[in-house]
Amino acid sequence: MKQSGRTPRRTAAASDETPFDDLGVAVSRAEPLSHHTWLGVGGDAAFFCEPVDADALARIVSRCQAEAVPLRILGGGSNVLVPTAGFAGMIVRLSAPAFCGIDVRRPSIVAGAGAKLVHVVSAAVQAGLAGLETLVDVPGTVGGALVGNAGGRGGDIGQRVREVTVMLGDGTVERRSPPDVAFQARWSNLDDCIVLGCRLDLEEEGAELLTKRMQRQWIVGRAEQPGGTRTVAMMFKDPLGTTAESLVVQAGARDLRVGGAAVYGPHANYVVAGPHCSSDDIRALVEQVRAAVRDRLGVELSPQIEVW
Ligand SMILES: Cc1cc2nc3c(=O)[nH]c(=O)nc-3n(C[C@H](O)[C@H](O)[C@H](O)COP(=O)(O)OP(=O)(O)OC[C@H]3O[C@@H](n4cnc5c(N)ncnc54)[C@H](O)[C@@H]3O)c2cc1C
Repeated sequence: MKQSGRTPRRTAAASDETPFDDLGVAVSRAEPLSHHTWLGVGGDAAFFCEPVDADALARIVSRCQAEAVPLRILGGGSNVLVPTAGFAGMIVRLSAPAFCGIDVRRPSIVAGAGAKLVHVVSAAVQAGLAGLETLVDVPGTVGGALVGNAGGRGGDIGQRVREVTVMLGDGTVERRSPPDVAFQARWSNLDDCIVLGCRLDLEEEGAELLTKRMQRQWIVGRAEQPGGTRTVAMMFKDPLGTTAESLVVQAGARDLRVGGAAVYGPHANYVVAGPHCSSDDIRALVEQVRAAVRDRLGVELSPQIEVW
């Protein structure tokens, strides 16, 4: 959810007070977002909180709306690039147990938005429910996966969605089912709300066979990702009929680097943040790679990573 607004009226520098002091929710100020994102770069959030439940979240969300404080949800932080200036608003993480439940209700699985996707995939496989195992190597949370319709060659999460529970900007909760909730390649229409959880429809299959399939996907998936570092991000969405990686290689951009940011040569659709890397380095590198593919191959790549 991207709730925009004016710059917060009261900031850490201006006063010890915040617009959230009477809400019974612990809100920290000047929280380094580099601690919460995979790339480990970028500035601070003016306000940051991890509400304990949906009521506490609703109080924060409606206060942000009333006070015109911009609000964003951060999932696992594997697909966002935080600018050096940080974020002049409220960042919320749904990390409390109330948002991370995983409940098998055959042949469905119900999962909270804050649950790690890999945990949901494992729970489904252990229960003998097929349909998510090809997502085992996608980092991040259920919420992030739904918003970006995470997936790969074996399908995407959107194909499995029966229902999504969301919170709106005024704190009200509603359920959305297809076709009201829509998914396309690495896209959903869930950008106007906070995702609280979902129900995914799966199929009965032997747990043993599924476990083997999941393990195979895990090995293949990990082999296709940069090893030995977590300060990475996927740069571009795969265009129809080809891969972003092959285009980056064909454009001769696999060795590009800017400051502390470098294209990860063996898997050239990833950017790696080295020591002293800044958010600006990564942003500039992604633009250079995109320009190289455009100029040399005439293809306009769409960024996968979301620049805040
Ligand atoms: C090594 C690596 C491998 C990857 N492989 C794949 C892959 O195979 N397939 C693929 O599709 N992607 C892949 N990605 C990209 C990324 O992992 C996915 O996009 C993932 O689904 C992002 O989830 P997250 O929880 O980390 O989201 P974040 O990065 O935290 O957030 C992404 C967006 O979702 C929003 N968001 C998060 N949670 C909520 C919520 N509850 N309500 C509303 N909005 C929310 C955020 O505001 C932000 O706009 C990969 C990334 C890396 C680093």
